[in-house]
Amino acid sequence: MLLPDLAVDASLSAHAAPLLLIDDLHFAYPDGRVALRGVRLRIARGEKVALVGPNGAGKSTLLLHLNGILRGKGRIEVAGMSVNDHTLPQVRARVGLVFQHPDDQLFSPTVFEDVAFGPLHMGLAADEVRARVERALAMVGMSAYQERHPYHLSTGEKKRIAIATVLAMEPDILAFDEPSAGLDPRARRGLIELLRGLPLTMLVSTHDMAMVQELFDRMVIMDEGRVVADGCVTALLADRALLEAHGLEMPWNK
Ligand code: ADP
Repeated sequence: MLLPDLAVDASLSAHAAPLLLIDDLHFAYPDGRVALRGVRLRIARGEKVALVGPNGAGKSTLLLHLNGILRGKGRIEVAGMSVNDHTLPQVRARVGLVFQHPDDQLFSPTVFEDVAFGPLHMGLAADEVRARVERALAMVGMSAYQERHPYHLSTGEKKRIAIATVLAMEPDILAFDEPSAGLDPRARRGLIELLRGLPLTMLVSTHDMAMVQELFDRMVIMDEGRVVADGCVTALLADRALLEAHGLEMPWNK
């Protein structure tokens, strides 16, 4: 369900059941490389959270756990539902994961078919599928592109279509892996405005600290498979020693 953006009262969110709960999550890839070492994170409905950290910190690995593409050791709950074999279909309908490279998400001959794929797979009726595709494309400003071939679009346009494929599922949470990577300044600006306007809970992995400063209230820093800081963007961006310790730059130093 698409829900209105709720103002999150910090005192309330600390007690209310979080929309996303991650507790003591550990994961190692099959080659033995340890990527997550006890990640803990709670996100309340309506929060937009930036996930930052150096390359290899574990950000992508963490995002891939949110809808069960990777399965580590520990607890993950989405809307109070524990992620396991039985709940995987419901979890996938609630968590929309937008990959860094849109070509990983787009595979149909037309934009319409790509955006319709998820809702069709959910078994929705044709009218409802069409309505969802139209709503999702309108939200990303791509209504005129239904019949276009996804491969023949610019990177910025592909990103918008990839976001629409996820919005058509009407998720509760959007998880983005580096949404502004590879975009020119105008496409990046358009994407920032798009994210600002989407009334959803978001967890956004990014190296774009200027975007973090502009768009987010809360920032989570990961390094070496752990959450090493979690707090208000303004306070964390003012902590030069913390940023330097984790390979981050204040946006105005760029
Ligand atoms: P980030 O998204 O923060 O750059 P990743 O989650 O991609 O970090 O990577 C975390 C760690 O896991 C790194 O050490 C990386 O080399 C390793 N890793 C990522 N993908 C794989 C994989 N498919 N196989 C083995 N190791 C991987």
